[in-house]
Amino acid sequence: MARFFVEKEKIGEGFIIIDGSDAHHIARSLRMAEGDEIVVCDGSGTEYRCRLTRIRDEECRCEIIEQLVSEAESPVEITLCMAYPKGDKLEVVIQKAVELGASRIIPFESSRCIKRPKAEKAEKQTARLQRIAEEAAKQCGRAKIPTVVQPMSYSAMLDEAKGCSAALFCYENEGGLTVKNLLKEMNKPDSIAIIVGAEGGFSPEEAEEAKARGCLSVSLGNRILRCETAPLFALTAISYEYEL
Ligand code: SAM
Repeated sequence: MARFFVEKEKIGEGFIIIDGSDAHHIARSLRMAEGDEIVVCDGSGTEYRCRLTRIRDEECRCEIIEQLVSEAESPVEITLCMAYPKGDKLEVVIQKAVELGASRIIPFESSRCIKRPKAEKAEKQTARLQRIAEEAAKQCGRAKIPTVVQPMSYSAMLDEAKGCSAALFCYENEGGLTVKNLLKEMNKPDSIAIIVGAEGGFSPEEAEEAKARGCLSVSLGNRILRCETAPLFALTAISYEYEL
């Protein structure tokens, strides 16, 4: 069933207004008819099964049939902190991270980043990454649209990560605790941050700083994963542990 996200002010008493490009998409691309059903989400976790009652290119109206409890959101609020990678890897990681349940993505700069975000392009690039996140959320049936924030420094990222109940520092030199054992041993947290390095990994100083700030250093296994693979592995482990 087609899924659309609207701002909360478009949700009335028993009805919802859909306008802009989504209205045009309903009328022209999907060529939907009055009586057809759609799912409408308010972007923060509430969704509604609705029936279209009026279709115009510029605005559609639907009546609310029932409010639904989304089963597509992770029970753990996940923040993915991703060191800035080369090429278009960040776009791919964001799309997959949304499918795997992340609700916030924080790109950050570390000492070994090969490619660095350009401050003057940050706003435009983040808007593009946010669109990728929104499209992925629609495709996979999320009730929330994950947030992509502008790139930040290593230290600022650690501040954000430490705002979560648990911050997992994915460290390729961590010979001890695996992500599997950590997730099994700890009580299910309300929120988790996953911190992943770029192609060059983390410096020992960065690893020390993360541990000193209370991040939990975890291994993702005995192979060195690419920076675009590691976050997906960690997100899958969390989904496996807490959702399946
Ligand atoms: N230092 C790595 C090397 O020797 O090739 C390069 C970093 S790796 C390509 C990118 C990031 O993925 C790492 O910084 C780490 O965050 C994560 N990572 C990759 N493999 C991992 C593993 N086996 N355990 C924990 N983290 C891993």
